[in-house]
Amino acid sequence: MLWDLGKRELRQKLKGGAMSTYILRKDGTAITCLKCARTSHNMEDVRNLYCGHCRLFHVPADGEPKLVGCAMYVYQPGAREPQIVNIRLPVVPSLDDLRKAVLPQLNATYFEHVNVLFEGAAADMFVDETGHHSHRPRNELATMIYRAAWLDAHPADDPEDLPWIAGPAVVFGRRVWS
Ligand SMILES: [Zn+2]
Repeated sequence: MLWDLGKRELRQKLKGGAMSTYILRKDGTAITCLKCARTSHNMEDVRNLYCGHCRLFHVPADGEPKLVGCAMYVYQPGAREPQIVNIRLPVVPSLDDLRKAVLPQLNATYFEHVNVLFEGAAADMFVDETGHHSHRPRNELATMIYRAAWLDAHPADDPEDLPWIAGPAVVFGRRVWS
């Protein structure tokens, strides 16, 4: 396992060539630079394949899909806190990638994308497109997240006049919607 190798061994492996200059951890939460053997848990570094010590962007290894770690915060109606699901997705996920990741969490056939604020930053929320139509229960936490973003831009509006979220909701820890 490369994670257990010392710096000298890593350098020797690199000199042997035919090897990528980095290793992404399987769960996508860290990147190890094989030039300096340093590991970064900074998600910006993981996403960009960047080493802050060497100050270089690694070139994605041939044939290796550039998947990066990503957290989904799944809000169920009635739950007091989100369930965190860590997955790996392409840097710019396709609609199909997002469907595969999100729909099982929503237990839905179609999703609707909503721009929200999450921990102060713009984020992507996905909800069941037919949640209201299917009479799914009101999701208090997701509704608050949704309304917070709206009220930030429209402070004069009454929160209770705004739509509410019906059914589960998924918020991503990074931007995935383009
Ligand atoms: Zn490095």
